[in-house]
Amino acid sequence: MSSSLSSVLEADHRELVDSFEAFVRRELVPLAADLPETSDIPPAELRAYVRTRSAKLGFYAGDYPEDLGGCDMPFTAVVLLHQAAGRSGCPLAPYALAGSDGPSPLLRHGTEEQIERYLKPLVRGEAVRCLALTEPHAGSDAFHLTSTAVRDGATGEWVLNGRKTFVSNADRADFTLVVAAAGGAGGEPTAFVVEAGTPGLRIGQRYDGMSGEPLFELLLDGVRLPADAVIGGEGGVGAALGNGIDSLSRGRLVVAAMCDGIAEYALAQGVEYARERRAFGERIGAYQHVQDHLVRSRAEVEAAKLMTLACARLVDAGTEAPENAALAKLTSSETAVRVVDRALQVHGATGWVRGHPLEFLYRYVRMMTIIEGTSEIQKVIVARAMGLG
Ligand SMILES: Cc1cc2nc3c(=O)[nH]c(=O)nc-3n(C[C@H](O)[C@H](O)[C@H](O)COP(=O)(O)OP(=O)(O)OC[C@H]3O[C@@H](n4cnc5c(N)ncnc54)[C@H](O)[C@@H]3O)c2cc1C
Repeated sequence: MSSSLSSVLEADHRELVDSFEAFVRRELVPLAADLPETSDIPPAELRAYVRTRSAKLGFYAGDYPEDLGGCDMPFTAVVLLHQAAGRSGCPLAPYALAGSDGPSPLLRHGTEEQIERYLKPLVRGEAVRCLALTEPHAGSDAFHLTSTAVRDGATGEWVLNGRKTFVSNADRADFTLVVAAAGGAGGEPTAFVVEAGTPGLRIGQRYDGMSGEPLFELLLDGVRLPADAVIGGEGGVGAALGNGIDSLSRGRLVVAAMCDGIAEYALAQGVEYARERRAFGERIGAYQHVQDHLVRSRAEVEAAKLMTLACARLVDAGTEAPENAALAKLTSSETAVRVVDRALQVHGATGWVRGHPLEFLYRYVRMMTIIEGTSEIQKVIVARAMGLG
């Protein structure tokens, strides 16, 4: 879509996006060609290589400040890179950009030592982490925690107990960011760093989802942590909610951008197929029902991209309102689900066959209306901002 309406908002970062796309084409596409068609997840060593290589080139975690190892990239540029990664259709491209195993905004509130020890290796792509927030009875209502962190008066250590669920990357994380109620049930949400191998931290059930990486249950059974395991030190006790809310808009806009890219790729696939595939003596793209799938998708993709980019610009201007990011995440994630569905429909059985990119995307994109706040929760945020309820 060279005449894409959003190109008007991309101009400032065109060179960066071009160089990222060249990196994907030159280095990642050839590597991806060797991946088995039957597996959704590239091997961990390959993902680690892609991360560190991309960090060296300045793409991975590029929005982090230079003194932390990033490139001080504006947030709009980050969003454009995520859109480009999805649009490329290369299964390795998303791993070239920081995601749920990358640097966590929570650690931006860390002590100097925590920033050195945990955040910087994440920015360099050399370490991976996971976030253990969700609990069996605290999903959307994420801070309704029953996992507790209680101080041992004798040693000053924190003792963590509880059960976390649906945790991404738990099987390979170098450390886990655990959010627990400080002082006992009903206490203030507080974030702790728990290094892999800490006694009492154990993986429980594994959840294999519709696509991609599995999620895990994490059990905290008397996990003893030194006083300085609280993110931000003493001042970090009770600060997880405030610190987390700070970064919600950015997280939602990254998901929106990933969705925009996926939708753009799916649409391109649909258009290409409709131009070639023949039925009843005509190219199927000549039929109005097929055109309807693709033209509707084009309109929705353009609108979603524009909304994401406008929100990213507001973030850079320091004037982003949470309801804007909620609108963008709601729009882009639901658009991507619909567009992938329509593109698969245009492909008929060809798109349904295991190993076809649309078959994978159909399963993969479904999580996007659930992660970083479900669609319903985005609507709650927007409704509140509209003075409803
Ligand atoms: C792929 C994937 C990766 C994940 N990774 C992580 C991770 O790394 N770490 C982590 O801690 N968690 C993770 N999660 C969990 C995720 O954060 C939760 O699934 C999400 O917050 C929703 O919670 P829930 O699944 O318990 O649904 P629930 O909160 O039980 O919601 C069920 C339904 O009720 C709706 N609902 C709930 N409250 C309201 C309301 N007030 N108004 C209207 N509707 C409402 C929801 O929208 C949803 O449709 C992951 C989930 C997925 C799918």
